[in-house]
Amino acid sequence: MKPMDVQHYKELLLKRQEELMEEAARFEQEARNSRVAEVEDPIDVVTSDESKSANFHLRDVAARTLQQVRAALQRINDGSYGFCIECGRPIERMRLEAVPWTPFCLEDQEKHDQAEAAGEGANVIPTA
Ligand SMILES: [Zn+2]
Repeated sequence: MKPMDVQHYKELLLKRQEELMEEAARFEQEARNSRVAEVEDPIDVVTSDESKSANFHLRDVAARTLQQVRAALQRINDGSYGFCIECGRPIERMRLEAVPWTPFCLEDQEKHDQAEAAGEGANVIPTA
């Protein structure tokens, strides 16, 4: 088997990490702004509550992705990158191209998605 071009994925991951950190900073800023807006304009509370919960959701997703990106960079460092942390098989290349921080092969990802959809194993963030 041809050795994997880890450097390529490392670049993708570092870029994504940077974007996510910028995103996190922006969410932080927006959260501060919406608190100020509430005090100034109580009529907008409902609207701002709605946008806040959407914002929190995005923030949660961004935070989880950031955690996965960091774990993936860690796996690059320890040489286990590109292998499923569940079954140890190589993760599909196409999948790594699309989601370079994924810790699972397609099969295990589907299992996790199903578990999450069923309300089991939600908030389980894989650690390297
Ligand atoms: Zn697997």
